[in-house]
Amino acid sequence: MPELPEVEVVRLGLATHVVGSTIESVDVLHPRAIRRHLPGSRDFVGQLRGRRIAAAERRGKYLWLPLEPRDIAVVVHLGMSGQMLVQPPTVPDEKHLRIRARLDNGADLRFVDQRTFGGWAIAPLTVVDGTIVPEPVAHIARDPVDPLFDAESVVNVLRGKHTEIKRALLDQTVLSGVGNIYADEALWRAEIHGNRIAETLSRPALRRLLTAAHAVMGEALAQGGTSFDALYVNVNGESGYFDRSLDAYGQEGLPCSRCGSPIRREKFMNRSSYSCPKCQPRPRTTRPVS
Ligand SMILES: [Zn+2]
Repeated sequence: MPELPEVEVVRLGLATHVVGSTIESVDVLHPRAIRRHLPGSRDFVGQLRGRRIAAAERRGKYLWLPLEPRDIAVVVHLGMSGQMLVQPPTVPDEKHLRIRARLDNGADLRFVDQRTFGGWAIAPLTVVDGTIVPEPVAHIARDPVDPLFDAESVVNVLRGKHTEIKRALLDQTVLSGVGNIYADEALWRAEIHGNRIAETLSRPALRRLLTAAHAVMGEALAQGGTSFDALYVNVNGESGYFDRSLDAYGQEGLPCSRCGSPIRREKFMNRSSYSCPKCQPRPRTTRPVS
């Protein structure tokens, strides 16, 4: 899954290339790409035609295009392999082209998705905590790079969690945008093992962790996102590679850049977690005790 910095790269590209344009027509080339739009393809196309794209917005890993007069938005699910491409209409259809929107600025906005886990949906906009978001995003917490992110209130939420800190970091209703890669990087920086129980961590440790999450994401944003997969590309089809700056994720067996111990890989939530055995000692009990 693309993480926050990758999604932000796509958002920036859309803000530059499609915001302010009006959708002239839409072709749905694969029904799976609009499966979240329950009224179906004809309704989908009808609702978008003639609408001006007001903005390109993001919260965590969620991306949406509010449409004038800001009553609805196109929510973009990138899934595992979704790409948003801006192309001249003369460019031949991509092999995995799923949705094509022709814009009045002379370009196509294309949704290409090899594995078809992603798609577009139309959702009403609603106000949550003073911010306008699509209804499917209403339960998603602010992300660490949101100017209104309130670290102290997230610390309070984490202090009440009787669950592993990595699991809490990945919970998009606690804070959003942190996926497996940035969770491991933030935990490494804060020198906390992901299996520590959230409520047992001190306030300073939790603050350190949230500061680290903000920092790793800020650095990734500055470098254009992490990409391990040629399928994660920005709106113009360029990859945002910067994996060399990772300290923990994917670094199994390589020396920790702080202490030199080989980074270990462990199973967590059916995925791999990477940590330093010396800087991030494993807790004695790995499961919450009730
Ligand atoms: Zn170390």
